[in-house]
Amino acid sequence: MTIKKNVIDQLIAQARAELPNESCGYLLGRDDTVTENFPMENVDHSPEHFSFDPRQQFQAMRYARQNGLRILANWHSHPASPSRPSQEDLRLANDPSIRYAILSLLDGQPRLNSFAIRQGAVVNKEEHL
Ligand SMILES: [Zn+2]
Repeated sequence: MTIKKNVIDQLIAQARAELPNESCGYLLGRDDTVTENFPMENVDHSPEHFSFDPRQQFQAMRYARQNGLRILANWHSHPASPSRPSQEDLRLANDPSIRYAILSLLDGQPRLNSFAIRQGAVVNKEEHL
């Protein structure tokens, strides 16, 4: 999966604006290329976990469909931990059709990896930043 540079910049800006809490969203695009961030509210408002609003999830799906885009990944930030899934992230990653991207802001050094997760285990990792 490729993520356009301007999208990565948007993720970093959103994640920094929502510090100290985790931020989150969907990555939309065509084929294997992410062209848009769909920002989502972290309804947990927590520095250590996140949840999507189901109504907003529906809006994201509708937006993607109306614009000929697919949801390629969901993403969230780790304000103070590395760019890899936590145990809870692995447990909650139950959609095999998408990737899971994690933007770390640890030590002020943004890192972005995405993961394919099957049955609670990482089966593939890609580095984007
Ligand atoms: Zn996480």
